[in-house]
Amino acid sequence: MTLEMHPQRWGDPVHAEPLPESVRGLVDAFVGTRDTPAVDDVQLPAPGIGDGLVAALRVAIGDDAVLTDDASRRLRTRGKSTPDLLRARNGDLADAPDAVVRPGSPEDVAAVLAWAVEHHVAVVPFGGGTCVTGGLAARRDGYAGLISLDLIRLDRLLSVDKVSMTAVLQPGMRGPAAEAALAEHGLTLGHFPQSFEFASIGGFAATRSSGQSSAGFGRFDDMVVGLRVATPIGELVAGSSPANAAGPDVREMVLGSEGTLGVITEVTVRVRPVAAEKVYEAWSFPTFADGAEAMRALAQSGRLPTVLRLSDETETMVNLASQSDIGGDGVTGCVMILGHEGASVAAKRAEVTGVLESLGGTNLGEERGQAWAAGRFHAPYLRDSMLDAGVLVETLETATFWSNRERLHQAVKSALETSLGEGTLVLCHISHTYETGCSLYFTVAAKQAEDPLPQWLAAKAAASDAMIDSGATITHHHAVGTDHKPWLEREIGPVGVAMLRGLKSAVDPDGVLNPGVLIP
Ligand SMILES: Cc1cc2nc3c(=O)[nH]c(=O)nc-3n(C[C@H](O)[C@H](O)[C@H](O)COP(=O)(O)OP(=O)(O)OC[C@H]3O[C@@H](n4cnc5c(N)ncnc54)[C@H](O)[C@@H]3O)c2cc1C
Repeated sequence: MTLEMHPQRWGDPVHAEPLPESVRGLVDAFVGTRDTPAVDDVQLPAPGIGDGLVAALRVAIGDDAVLTDDASRRLRTRGKSTPDLLRARNGDLADAPDAVVRPGSPEDVAAVLAWAVEHHVAVVPFGGGTCVTGGLAARRDGYAGLISLDLIRLDRLLSVDKVSMTAVLQPGMRGPAAEAALAEHGLTLGHFPQSFEFASIGGFAATRSSGQSSAGFGRFDDMVVGLRVATPIGELVAGSSPANAAGPDVREMVLGSEGTLGVITEVTVRVRPVAAEKVYEAWSFPTFADGAEAMRALAQSGRLPTVLRLSDETETMVNLASQSDIGGDGVTGCVMILGHEGASVAAKRAEVTGVLESLGGTNLGEERGQAWAAGRFHAPYLRDSMLDAGVLVETLETATFWSNRERLHQAVKSALETSLGEGTLVLCHISHTYETGCSLYFTVAAKQAEDPLPQWLAAKAAASDAMIDSGATITHHHAVGTDHKPWLEREIGPVGVAMLRGLKSAVDPDGVLNPGVLIP
């Protein structure tokens, strides 16, 4: 697998997925089809940075570490949201960096930041480039240039402490490389977002990512016990103990800071033994509400399995259509996927089974669960096939307390349907479960308008308003970037914004780090 993604599509083109006939039928029925020609040769704007500045940077960290060729710049332009892909498919790469800089050490990162401050150049830290909220599209007005600080060369497992069960990872390691390196020690991180194959350790920390196994392993921010961070005013090293009462936690201030406060150069994470047993299974519940109540019961009785997700009626129908090769046509209601991982899963699985049966669940066996596990990283390829077929498709996510779940679900669904019009498919699943609430993850498919970009931006704004008006968060795990920034103050209030601005001006007084991202 290559680490570079196609500039206009998800992932490695080798793994591109045609639209399955069963899904094509559904999509046709709901939205019709239209061909969208892909643009192969997108022209880049000329680099807006002076040659003298680039030469000074080469002197600071070495010739090979500074790339100004079109291919490198193209591959570091924006992230992988549907608007990012639509812009790239339209030939708009206006946000391309002037140069791609690949530091080989934390000291190199510090040298780049010193150069950026001296010459007032904007710096966009770049991990895997899988961002879906505009966090890689920094503002460049008023700057002498904009560089992408690609951490790909910082890609090693630095140390393992098997007594404390921690490991120190460099930020440029992608998910699979981190898992492979830890597996040599019999360990796992257990962080499997859908973007796992391309996203990086530094990116997980900078966005407070949450994975598909987070019910069992926790969110990425729960896993981080220490950080090393380069800032324009010097280095921050946070996390000298498993827990402390030494004032507000500065480690927490860096987690989720999306490259606006510093560049994460090392991450110390807690690790777990590799699971000896992994079992995935599916259950069905008569309604989404019944399934949600069962999830709440599991969470509140301390019986969460490693993976736990529940599709609503519409998502269940679409998933069943795409799994038509699996038997059991009589499945009705809403399908729940569970994964049990550990040294020995039988006892916990039996407890979970007891709870689900007592709350109206029907066990559908392991085949559907295993099919989910086998295909868990393929869905993003289908998005490209749908965009090719004239379908506007995108995902969004939020979270709320259990008592507000139904209201939030209806409000977001209705906002999307009203904005996108008749024939729109809105699928939803509960993707993460906590004692006090859950996250809702929506997938939307609609017929593309003549210009799908403003069409989607209007629908996204309506859905975002619905989330905030319902008292939920603007994002459970995709982070803020530039896309969610207009809603942040409504969520955290003016005092919250003042606190963020204060932190920013203290550590980045010249504002070179990811300008325009996250902080209102
Ligand atoms: C198809 C698809 C599926 C996804 N599934 C999930 C999912 O299941 N769960 C989930 O949480 N997210 C998911 N995402 C969103 C995305 O993958 C996550 O936000 C991920 O954590 C980003 O990591 P990255 O390495 O790609 O970061 P990038 O996209 O490179 O960067 C993200 C942000 O972090 C900053 N940054 C990156 N590295 C550093 C660093 N070392 N120091 C400081 N700042 C840095 C960047 O400047 C940017 O603002 C998905 C995205 C896609 C496209």
